[in-house]
Amino acid sequence: MTLKMIEAFRNLRNKNGDNVRTVAVSKRSTNEEIMNVYNLNQKDFGENRVQDLVAKYNKLPKDINWHMIGHLQRNKVKDIIGFIHLIHSVDSFRLLDQINNESTKKNLKTDVLIQVKISKDVSKYGFSAYELDDVFKNYLSNKYRNVNILGLMGMATFTENISQIESEFSFLSVLYKKYSKITKLKYLSMGMSGDYLSALKYNSNMIRLGSAIFK
Ligand SMILES: *Cc1c(COP(=O)(O)O)cnc(C)c1O
Repeated sequence: MTLKMIEAFRNLRNKNGDNVRTVAVSKRSTNEEIMNVYNLNQKDFGENRVQDLVAKYNKLPKDINWHMIGHLQRNKVKDIIGFIHLIHSVDSFRLLDQINNESTKKNLKTDVLIQVKISKDVSKYGFSAYELDDVFKNYLSNKYRNVNILGLMGMATFTENISQIESEFSFLSVLYKKYSKITKLKYLSMGMSGDYLSALKYNSNMIRLGSAIFK
């Protein structure tokens, strides 16, 4: 990774012309590899396992913004509340409650995204689209006082079929627009190394890049 390459990611715009925030997904990378990218002024890093996240947080510079992007077990929530910058992978009501409770105990607010299942892959987590009305209804009735819902996250089906991927991104983008009308949302997190250009066509403004950054 060179400064030129990381700056090319930093200068990306989505179809609306909005800035795009890049999360460097470091789940397969060593601390040394992370530091090489950090030294190119990249401050957002994403991990999918709590244990790795905590270990890397402890060892690496404190001005890194850590993003939790993988399935989060409720009993691990307490380990990341306080330092986590953004949890992308909120995929159940029980997890939302737990994040709210642990944040209340520590007297702080945690920023999250709601993960929506848009893919056909059986293994992918997330709320179904029809559950989102209840998520936002609870949120607006102050059920989650110590959580800030900043947007939505989704992962497309693992396929070579670009029109399939784009129809899933398009669907999530419609949901993002819909819920943006009832509460202020800031981030639509969609797109990985293989499909971020498709995601930008549907106005993603946060992409999660692993292999494209850490070759
Ligand atoms: C691993 C991972 C990524 C990055 O994947 P690449 O294909 O390496 O860019 C993005 N999002 C999530 C949720 C991941 O688990």
